Amino acid sequence: MTDQTSRELFERAQQVIPGGVNSPVRAFRAVGGTPRFIASAEGPYLVDADGDRLVDLVCSWGPMILGHAHPEVLGAVTAAAGRGTSYGAPTRAEIELAELIVERTPVEQVRLVSSGTEATMSVLRLARAATGRDLVVKFAGCYHGHVDALLASAGSGVATLSGLGAEGARRAADDAALATPSSPGVPGATTAQTIVLPYNDREAVRQAFAELGDQIACLVTEAAPGNMGVVEPGVEDGEHFNAFLARVCREHGALFVSDEVMTGFRVSRSGQYGVDGVQPDLMTFGKVMGGGFPAAAFGGRAELMQLLSPVGSVYQAGTLSGNPVASAAGATTLRLLDEDVYTRLGRSADTLRSAVADAFAAAGLPHVTQSAGSMFSVFFTPADVTAVPDYATAQRQDTVAHAAFFHAMLDAGVYLPPSAYEAWFLSTAHDEQALSTVVEALPAAARAAA
Ligand code: PLP
Repeated sequence: MTDQTSRELFERAQQVIPGGVNSPVRAFRAVGGTPRFIASAEGPYLVDADGDRLVDLVCSWGPMILGHAHPEVLGAVTAAAGRGTSYGAPTRAEIELAELIVERTPVEQVRLVSSGTEATMSVLRLARAATGRDLVVKFAGCYHGHVDALLASAGSGVATLSGLGAEGARRAADDAALATPSSPGVPGATTAQTIVLPYNDREAVRQAFAELGDQIACLVTEAAPGNMGVVEPGVEDGEHFNAFLARVCREHGALFVSDEVMTGFRVSRSGQYGVDGVQPDLMTFGKVMGGGFPAAAFGGRAELMQLLSPVGSVYQAGTLSGNPVASAAGATTLRLLDEDVYTRLGRSADTLRSAVADAFAAAGLPHVTQSAGSMFSVFFTPADVTAVPDYATAQRQDTVAHAAFFHAMLDAGVYLPPSAYEAWFLSTAHDEQALSTVVEALPAAARAAA
């Protein structure tokens, strides 16, 4: 396996694109080496610019739940593109996508946008307008896109690249801390309106709301976090963490916002809502609902959504929002996602999770695996992230072991997320052959990392 062409492309890319990539975690900074430039993809496989075929466990960071170049999605996209690619006027396709989202989730209305970041940014404005309050609560390690107000103790690429680790953990432990920005360029005044709390810590939530509850517009959480690795929402005295959050928000007149950009239509036919049944006031969606195209959405009760322009006065807009090609890809994808898909994906995830556990145990490599449906993560840590799931524990990973493991898997033809803080994603196209390639590569890669 050679990466000569990727090296040449990376050199060229760095001349005209900062770091050679259009989203930081793609650059392999956390694992070292040259990012693979992808030439094509089909089913569970990526083919890189040097012609190497790799089993893809990134799936474009979640969207490709049906695998790459799914014939029905391609058919819908080609037909839509043949009718023109953007009109900046309403279409039947966007109604169909909106109806599919409304049918599967508790939201009554949605507005379509082009990225998860746009969805969470817009939802904050709506929540603030609806409540007449400014403060926003988020959890350390949860990532909601690169929205200024939410770029505080954010997971995902921010955790991977900024060396946030110890500092983030300390901040997370500091109950009801008014946040400081995770990135230069984010005004302190903006994140000063954001309260960052440790995930799964009910006492910290109670305290923050006791002190500042009448100023809090909304609490936003990943429905089941996947951006600090997968961390399961806890259950205490029979109450799910999301149910607890919805209850506290209700008691204080704040809105409960569930960010299902990653989990929506991925962990069940509706998302995490299908798992815990907790009804949020507002929700955000992205990834899977775009079928591999830039499409995302936010939604909620009609009474809240009607505050948006042009009915109400909360301004929100987008040149490419509800794009007909993206809507066709998204609607076709959602129609293909029946209950059986999730059973199959769950089985594949279980197969991989136990193969990882066996290989790591045999190599004496400390680890914890955690999953939410077909997304799961491997924490390179001996700490018990299962019993006490929190960001501080997730941050204390052996990133050197992770990098060695990552490269051994890549050499064996398996493309994993190039970060220890990201989830692995599966698709319905990951058949026995693709899964065996992964399972067979695991023992040697675990030994290389031990
Ligand atoms: N919210 C969550 C939970 C995410 O995982 C992401 C992206 O990974 C976003 C929001 C931002 O979405 P996008 O990258 O489409 O802007």
